[in-house]
Amino acid sequence: MTHAKKPLTILLASPRGFCAGVDRAIQIVERALERYGRPVYVRHEIVHNHFVVEALEAKGAIFVDELCEVPDDRPVVFSAHGVPKAVPAEAARRNLIHVDATCPLVSKVHREVERHAGSGRVVILVGHAGHPEVVGTMGQLPPGRVLLVEDVAQAETVEVADPVNLAYATQTTLSIEDTTDIMAVLRRRFPDIRGPKTEDICYATTNRQAAVKAIADKCDALIVLGAPNSSNSMRLVEVAVSHGCPKSRLVQRAAEMDWAWLDSARRLGITAGASAPELLVEELIAACRERYDVAIREVRTTEENVVFKLPRQLVA
Ligand code: SF4
Repeated sequence: MTHAKKPLTILLASPRGFCAGVDRAIQIVERALERYGRPVYVRHEIVHNHFVVEALEAKGAIFVDELCEVPDDRPVVFSAHGVPKAVPAEAARRNLIHVDATCPLVSKVHREVERHAGSGRVVILVGHAGHPEVVGTMGQLPPGRVLLVEDVAQAETVEVADPVNLAYATQTTLSIEDTTDIMAVLRRRFPDIRGPKTEDICYATTNRQAAVKAIADKCDALIVLGAPNSSNSMRLVEVAVSHGCPKSRLVQRAAEMDWAWLDSARRLGITAGASAPELLVEELIAACRERYDVAIREVRTTEENVVFKLPRQLVA
């Protein structure tokens, strides 16, 4: 006798998954391979997703941590998160062919930070220590010109020599709520602080968080497909928890699902971080269908049509 499968409604957040910056970075590596042949070196994971990295490795990309691992006669691509100024300078000194896959929205923050420094301001960067984007943004200026603030407690205690000549910038992939709280403290303590009209949190982070907020309190459980080192994916889990779905977790792909964890759920929310391919969502839905009688409802909060141009050296 076969048992009928239990019903499971999947609420699929939209937008989810790849953003324009990730899409562009992957295309840059693929185009560089076409143009320069194998291998093409990539400094750091091009985007924070093993699946993407492995697919590019299979095509001939070699991922390294530092520029010194790149031979003189091969091209190198810098990851979507951006790099300190010293990195392209060193690549130029060695006459390496180098292609910058930094997301244009991260480059925009780099230019802001430089502009503030040019006006004599110290910059407070709101972000997470050690994340490559933060390392890259801090590396746009000499040491000591960018002060990192990670949370409200640090915003309360950060010391600045000249509070009148102060500016801020933020990592692009932060939680909107957390950043608002941190900014409130900084504005209270330093009323003259300058910054962008809105935080530097990018459209993709904003839209993916909004889509999760729209479904979180309607779900018994919620899965964010993404990597643990992906900042925007981790923030999606936090946003889901704080907006009504305490049973939310990050899963890298369907093969690592703990099905017992999902057992009592009747409504499952699914989203994916900006560096997670849609294939991972499809794989998870297929795995759910094997175990449940699945009904899918896509909840779209906005349309996205952002596309970034490729660097000129790869389109000419
Ligand atoms: S998450 Fe935002 S900043 Fe990061 S690559 Fe995507 S669009 Fe660019």
